Amino acid sequence: MADKYDVIVVGAGPGGVTCGALLAKWGLKTLVVDKNSQVGGKAMTLSKSGFRYEYYPIWPCPGAESQIHAALKVLGIEDRVELIQPDPFGLMHYETPSGEIGSMIMRGPGHPLDPQDLFKLLGVGDADTEEVLRLFGEVALMAPHDQDLLDDVSTIEFLDRYDIPRSVYSFFATLQSEGTIEVPSDIACASEVVKIFQQLVTGGSGCYPAGGLGAMYEAIAGAAQANGSDILLETRVDRIAVQNGRVGGVFTEKGAFYAPIVVSNAGIQPTVLKLVGEEHFDKSYVNYVGDLVPSLGFAGARYILSKPVLEYPVYLYFSDNTVSTTDHIMKAKSGQMPEQIYVFISATSLCPGRAPPGKQLVHTGLSCPADTKVDPKTWLDKVEAEVARIWPDVVKHIEESEYYGSAHISAISRDSVVPGAGGECIGLGQIVGQCGKHKPSAKAPISGLFYVGADAGSTGFFANNLAVASGMNVAKMVLQYFKTHPR
Ligand SMILES: Cc1cc2nc3c(=O)[nH]c(=O)nc-3n(C[C@H](O)[C@H](O)[C@H](O)COP(=O)(O)OP(=O)(O)OC[C@H]3O[C@@H](n4cnc5c(N)ncnc54)[C@H](O)[C@@H]3O)c2cc1C
Repeated sequence: MADKYDVIVVGAGPGGVTCGALLAKWGLKTLVVDKNSQVGGKAMTLSKSGFRYEYYPIWPCPGAESQIHAALKVLGIEDRVELIQPDPFGLMHYETPSGEIGSMIMRGPGHPLDPQDLFKLLGVGDADTEEVLRLFGEVALMAPHDQDLLDDVSTIEFLDRYDIPRSVYSFFATLQSEGTIEVPSDIACASEVVKIFQQLVTGGSGCYPAGGLGAMYEAIAGAAQANGSDILLETRVDRIAVQNGRVGGVFTEKGAFYAPIVVSNAGIQPTVLKLVGEEHFDKSYVNYVGDLVPSLGFAGARYILSKPVLEYPVYLYFSDNTVSTTDHIMKAKSGQMPEQIYVFISATSLCPGRAPPGKQLVHTGLSCPADTKVDPKTWLDKVEAEVARIWPDVVKHIEESEYYGSAHISAISRDSVVPGAGGECIGLGQIVGQCGKHKPSAKAPISGLFYVGADAGSTGFFANNLAVASGMNVAKMVLQYFKTHPR
């Protein structure tokens, strides 16, 4: 293995591995370093006791023509990653104020959401239909310029422009804020919500790589290696070397590696405040980075069931009272959980062959602060009570349970360097002031240093898709920089 490269990518999460693979394909001598034993970051797939599953519950989205499809195509490996599309892929449950739980089937790509089915589930009466259709129509057809005008508007402020029933309000505010971008709806950026909703409407949901998301990132890593990239796993980068305002490489526990370009997938805050060190940046930039707000973390449970209980890959539950705001999160942190919560549950049935015959692995959980010091128990107790109420059969067949919280998420993704951050599900929160035109630049104010992944380099996508989009955009920026900055 060499010790000199054109570019070093710190982190092989969805953004890092995509970026590294593209740069290798375009001829740059590339090293990708990750502290984990496999690629994929928070989206890695594990194999254990005959199961093959993601660390975390996965909402497969969007269904077609996503950034992920585009990246596989550019890398020329679209034939090597089988994207399966279970249809139907899930059930959406809505609980009425009188306590009845209705359900609506969610179809795969090619079967966009039918407003009539949704109206039935949400009890939209004739008197409200016109206004609800106005909301759906405006969101689904909003032009890019108008979307950009929502960069400074929260989801709740946007919804308040419409005189809609509470059920429709909650559908948007719960599912498109906490349920999709993992941020409270009072700060969720409306331009992000609208863009992602449009992708869902046009592309549908439910597209998923056979073998798991991690298998797809392994295929991308394979493409990187086939193009000459080195991939160094189980190696933590301790420091990104900077001298005279330029990066020079990285220091790891396995030695130093040199390159005039370093792309960090380790999160913008850990990169600036720890790996490079604040002494290399202007005070104002350090303050700006320190004040960035993470997405929410997650308190999750994995259950091994003695028999397959859930028929579909994913299930959602919400009610009029599941809209989560910053105030709810703060109250929950002090022990006051809301009475009703949004619940997401997913099963290994997403992809055949992912569980031993006769068994099923089920994920569930609830958003909680990204703070690695928060004990997830309060959230887990609540979510387990809700699972028992809504899906009693699941609880009856639990053979084994595993639990995790934000500290665990941090351990396999980014370090916690700012109080309250580290265990974020997505990365930087897609909130007002941090999205669209306000998204941090992927080019750091140090020569040769870039950020990649959910934190920078793309906006207006959902999680894995966001990180992969960043991988593609940042790879282009790096290539341009490489060509214009001869060594
Ligand atoms: C509970 C949960 C549920 C989720 N559900 C979904 C979902 O349903 N659908 C969806 O699309 N997405 C989902 N996501 C989010 C998705 O996984 C992330 O948005 C995505 O993984 C972000 O990719 P990334 O490239 O930004 O970085 P990450 O995935 O965070 O990867 C960063 C990589 O950098 C490495 N790294 C960091 N620091 C160092 C260092 N110092 N040295 C070496 N390596 C380092 C890490 O080990 C890691 O591999 C979920 C996440 C969680 C936690």
